[in-house]
Amino acid sequence: MMKREDEKPAARKTSGAKASGKGDSGSGAKKRKGKTCSFCGKEISPFEPVVQGVDGAILCMNCEDLAHRYFEELRREYQAGEEMEAIPLKKPQEIKAFLDQYVIGQDAAKRILSVAVYNHYKRLNYLACHEGNSETEIEKSNVLMVGPTGTGKTLLARSIARLLKVPFCIADATVLTEAGYVGEDVETILSRLLQAADYDVKQAERGIVFIDEIDKIARKSGNPSITRDVSGEGVQQALLKLLEGTESLVPPKGGRKHPNADMVKVNTSNILFIASGSFDGIERNIASRLRMKEVGYRKSEDRTEVAQDEKLLQYVAPQDLRAYGLIPELIGRLPVITHLEALDKEALLSVLTEPKNALVRQYKQLFKMDGVDLDFAPGVYGFIADKAIEYRLGARGLRSIMEVVMGDLMYQLPSQEVSRYLVTEDYVKEHLGKGIFDRLKNS
Ligand code: ADP
Repeated sequence: MMKREDEKPAARKTSGAKASGKGDSGSGAKKRKGKTCSFCGKEISPFEPVVQGVDGAILCMNCEDLAHRYFEELRREYQAGEEMEAIPLKKPQEIKAFLDQYVIGQDAAKRILSVAVYNHYKRLNYLACHEGNSETEIEKSNVLMVGPTGTGKTLLARSIARLLKVPFCIADATVLTEAGYVGEDVETILSRLLQAADYDVKQAERGIVFIDEIDKIARKSGNPSITRDVSGEGVQQALLKLLEGTESLVPPKGGRKHPNADMVKVNTSNILFIASGSFDGIERNIASRLRMKEVGYRKSEDRTEVAQDEKLLQYVAPQDLRAYGLIPELIGRLPVITHLEALDKEALLSVLTEPKNALVRQYKQLFKMDGVDLDFAPGVYGFIADKAIEYRLGARGLRSIMEVVMGDLMYQLPSQEVSRYLVTEDYVKEHLGKGIFDRLKNS
């Protein structure tokens, strides 16, 4: 590409001469003295390598470098666009079948989430085809999951991202604050997504953001105007634009925004936000709403049954979230609401053994690598599940309990000449003193 000034003119024509109009029509070594770049107009030293067009236009080294980088970027953008179109659209039933492999129960949440995700990516394809010229505007279907801790909310979102092979990140709403306050700006959420996307902005713009503990930024009191509610309503307000779709300037390395730091522009219009929270005590809001209806309307048998049902979360509605302290604008931007149920003993037993990456399978695999066949005596799983329920540790507690139980074995067995090991109920009881549960509960 590059030619020394005393070489013959290149066969390639450059557009630089046209762009600046400063082209020197002459070519060849004789006329090179005092020549200028046809593109930027800079004077070129006789020793600087240049690119020379057939019509005599000359491109200096700087401009050639700039043009090269510009075309590289265009090519990368083009390729990114091509690759993104290749993400196959999974049908809701396929998505649910995939989730079934990893998540026990939670059928209602799986169905609703599958449809929301399908619609979201269908919408993306639709937008890509119509490029903003469509008659019908399909709105984003951000999701809100309500359910006790350790019931699979994060697992569901993570599994979906894995299925679709899109960037995924988890953000904790409790560390977010309004701009200007101590804590993290809401934009830092996008920094994490960028990292998950290997700083490929286009990929990040189609990713999934999981916002955990959204219930913890609920308005604390009914009257928001007394003092500024740093961690509550202010953060909800700050999240609105992000959830709806905006061009956000993001510090790529996270942290607070800084006027001198380089920012990356990320458009959130096509990012799927899945918010989640345990909303402890929201059942009271649900129950009182349902009872109010009973008073206001004809008291049908059905309604009385509904109000007495302890699984009230399944009736969660926007009004309940509002009564809990989420502002209506935020609820409006999370149009798909679903619930997860507390896992009973049967479900916990399944969590231990059934999913593709079930805890028991993982431990067995770990020991197999040391040549040990690990087994558990009957009653062990039941004992562990009972303890997780008794100490309200949920499915998340199963892992902590198993870690305590297996700790000594993982330390000792690799150095011993054993090919089989049976973990008995007595062994488990011996290793799980009461103090351990109190510690697990507080951790
Ligand atoms: P949360 O509802 O608090 O987001 P997580 O999804 O983080 O709960 O669950 C914590 C862990 O508990 C998961 O990593 C998984 O091992 C286990 N778990 C929770 N719920 C389920 C479930 N329904 N099916 C299978 N595993 C589960």
